[in-house]
Amino acid sequence: MHDFRYLGKRLFCEGVGVETLAKRFGTPLYVYSQRTLTRHFQELDRAMSPVEHLICFAVKSNSNQSMLRTLANLGSGFDIVSGGELARVISAGGDPRQCVFAGVGKTEVEIEFALRRGVYSFNAESEAELHRINRVAARLNKVAPVAVRVNPDVAAQTHTKITTGTYENKFGIAFEQVDAVYARARRLKNLRWRGVQMHIGSQITAVRPFAQAVRKVLPLVRRLKERHELEFFSIGGGLGIIYQPALASGMAQWWNSAAAKNILTPETYAARLVPLLKPLGLKILLEPGRFISGNAGILVTRVEYVKRTGRKNFVIVDAAMNDLIRPAFYEAYHEIVPLTRQGGALIKSDVVGPICESGDFFCKDRPLPKVGEGDFLALLSAGAYGFVMASNYNTRSLAAEVLVNGKLAAVVRERQSVKEIWAGEKVAPWLK
Ligand SMILES: *Cc1c(COP(=O)(O)O)cnc(C)c1O
Repeated sequence: MHDFRYLGKRLFCEGVGVETLAKRFGTPLYVYSQRTLTRHFQELDRAMSPVEHLICFAVKSNSNQSMLRTLANLGSGFDIVSGGELARVISAGGDPRQCVFAGVGKTEVEIEFALRRGVYSFNAESEAELHRINRVAARLNKVAPVAVRVNPDVAAQTHTKITTGTYENKFGIAFEQVDAVYARARRLKNLRWRGVQMHIGSQITAVRPFAQAVRKVLPLVRRLKERHELEFFSIGGGLGIIYQPALASGMAQWWNSAAAKNILTPETYAARLVPLLKPLGLKILLEPGRFISGNAGILVTRVEYVKRTGRKNFVIVDAAMNDLIRPAFYEAYHEIVPLTRQGGALIKSDVVGPICESGDFFCKDRPLPKVGEGDFLALLSAGAYGFVMASNYNTRSLAAEVLVNGKLAAVVRERQSVKEIWAGEKVAPWLK
């Protein structure tokens, strides 16, 4: 559930009309709901309350300073994948001692920075990385807290580009090798085992793959706990969200449908996993990104042209794949709704951006209300893996971001000026 809904004909984010924001701050514009972000964090936190746990928000899904500050104020930890993300979290008021550092390619510079800042755990993805962390820690005269990311080799039943927990993927250390890695690494004097981690993929909309993976690694976790005095078990993130709630045709109707009954909720997730996890006696870490931020944001765009060809109705908008790459990258679905609702027949439309790539589209042949130049559309569920993946392709500025809280709205990232795009570029001296 989220806080983008129609009041009368107009789409609101909490207590603010979205069209007012579009007119005031221009488009393309990301609009975030603080209430939705907060609610999603708290729902999961509450559902997991029967076990000692820490939610470490996956910063890569949405790293805006105001979003991170909101979560830090709620007591959230953070799952980071680069030194840059750690610096961001600290700048936003997050606590490094509640950060876990993931990723297959941690550099020496990043490891040193994270060690100095005192992150809670390095989640190592290879033995070579353990050796490197040990070496850096020795040089700094520190002991590094580490965990291994276990690759449980279970299929997450999601898109191949966001599956991470099978042996086809570059992530983690193979399930069968983990015991030996923990035993061998005891010789590394500047490491201390702190936990064990896994993450099987993203946008998983059923509980089953999570339960399967947890069941599979539980005996391993128990063994490791006995031998190495672990403190935590991280079950990763990956909780999926609903991208097609058919807001336009009435949310209530959808929520009562059969499809809605099977959907992953914090309650169904916790109901299945808590009984498995509780007997472990370990602190449970969760690393959700999309579940917390996905439905907390929309991308607002303006219709520039409507172009009818023999077969097609192209709605050309001012947002593009550089602003939101998910449809091009993952064939992702984003619901598209007008900011001002009108009656009338639906027309099969392709909503496309202005970029010179056939991949620059947001939907194809989708029945949408008739729109014309100057109308505004919203792409829903754009709060995760949206702005963070934006680029300057076609020398297009990064969009502005706005945060709404009740009736308040604030720009939380200025629209990038065109000159800023090439500010770091130089003409080579021999060309002068
Ligand atoms: C990306 C990632 C997450 C978050 O994934 P979501 O699908 O957004 O929940 C969590 N943990 C790790 C290690 C990741 O790489």
